Amino acid sequence: MKEIKNFINGEFVTNTSGKTFEDRNPVDNSLIGTIYEAGKPEADAAVAAAKAALKGPWGKLSVVERVKMLDEVAKEINRRFDDFLQAEIADTGKPKHLASHVDIPRGAANFQIFADTIKNMSTESFEMRTPDGKTALSYGVRVPRGVIAVVCPWNLPLLLMTWKAGPALACGNTVVIKPSEETPLTATLLGEVMNKVGVPKGVYNVVHGFGPDSAGAFLTSHPDVNGITFTGETRTGTAIMQAGAVGIRPVSLELGGKNAALVFADCDFQVAVDTVTRSCFENAGQVCLGTERVYVQRPIFDKFVAALKEKAETMKPGRPFDEDTKIGPLVSKEHQRKVLSYYQKAKDEGATIVTGGGIPEMPDELKDGCWVQPTIWTGLPETASVVIEEVFGPCCHISPFDTEEEVVEKVNNNAYGLATSIYTQDISRANRVAKQIEVGLCWINSWFLRDLRTPFGGSKQSGIGREGGVHSFEFYTELRNVMLKY
Ligand code: NAD
Repeated sequence: MKEIKNFINGEFVTNTSGKTFEDRNPVDNSLIGTIYEAGKPEADAAVAAAKAALKGPWGKLSVVERVKMLDEVAKEINRRFDDFLQAEIADTGKPKHLASHVDIPRGAANFQIFADTIKNMSTESFEMRTPDGKTALSYGVRVPRGVIAVVCPWNLPLLLMTWKAGPALACGNTVVIKPSEETPLTATLLGEVMNKVGVPKGVYNVVHGFGPDSAGAFLTSHPDVNGITFTGETRTGTAIMQAGAVGIRPVSLELGGKNAALVFADCDFQVAVDTVTRSCFENAGQVCLGTERVYVQRPIFDKFVAALKEKAETMKPGRPFDEDTKIGPLVSKEHQRKVLSYYQKAKDEGATIVTGGGIPEMPDELKDGCWVQPTIWTGLPETASVVIEEVFGPCCHISPFDTEEEVVEKVNNNAYGLATSIYTQDISRANRVAKQIEVGLCWINSWFLRDLRTPFGGSKQSGIGREGGVHSFEFYTELRNVMLKY
């Protein structure tokens, strides 16, 4: 059985408390290994190592040298592609086609893209005449913030962690990662990669554990942490922001969503059905950008509901490495209970269950896994729980609408503002509606298509700040001004 250790100052270490917890495979609930929970002593040691590393060889590297090292990190992830794939799949149960096309390649690309971006990063400069007739030149200098705490969720463990660690390191910071307690493996494996390519000790650290009274809280409340970047639930984001308030430490928050798809009658029907199928059910609906509210214009409502039902019913659950598997399990028993409680609520609140609504029939050896059926509801009012709250499962509610104004108002009437997608062949309408939806990310006739140079982040209760391309550097560096008189 695997022993999953903390990675502090270049070493894999256990803990002083002797506390451990289990890492289980959500496909069949089998035990993967034992995780050593980091307590305060381990969080303190990781932050101390990260702080010391800022002054060590890492802090003295030129941008070119740093970029070269991060390129090597990306290459080594690709060289060990199968190890990362096995680890990510063991923790999440996601189908191989997904992990091998999305999670692992993006994990490597996140080091590559930010290494490339930082090479071309410029700052501003201004020249002015002084009152005594001389000249003054002001110029900006970007410096690393220092020690960055990176607190991560479980839905895309390597991808979302490196989306933060990549730019943080490119900017010359050091990091302490707190992976989700559900998915500790790939962050730990990355420690081996860092050692292999010669990233100095203490630059990349990993502490395992939970939130309150555990690694998450010890890390985010540590006074020597200079910035906290977090992806996860909005409720946890509130706690992180409160932790950051002590010591006036900046936070970057990528939080929950209740994303809508707007399907107009003039859309390319097949594109809309295929894309909404992906946005509702991919990764078993455990994608922050996923769709849980679908609004379909009345003339095509019945046809669309029937087509999405047919698609949902082809999503075959199964083992990650089976070629015909279309959907994996949820990440944990706890999350399965949460999603099933929403399935029950929808029923209690009077939903018409178009398909799903429970646990699929599975073979005996998978019966103990965290499975739920892809589920579609209709007939609920806008005030229903599954229309307002984030479920984070493979499910959606579909409502009819008549006018553009009506659908925009319904979509915006939600506390979240992460992402949306609009399906129409009328380009004027698409652009008009896109501007009105209160979200950070809007797709037209597509979904999840990403150019890593573009800003990523949420509006309203879906987050604070933007990451991606040069936007990441706003958080991971501090811009100083130097003025020279001559
Ligand atoms: P979560 O908030 O429960 O946990 C995220 C991380 O925070 C975990 O590592 C957890 O241990 C830690 N944590 C919990 N309480 C803490 C505390 N008080 N102090 C410090 N750390 C603490 O989220 P989750 O269930 O892992 O992930 C699912 C959520 O993440 C969904 O709401 C989803 O929408 C959101 N998400 C958002 C984005 C985005 O880009 N906006 C991306 C992926 C997931």
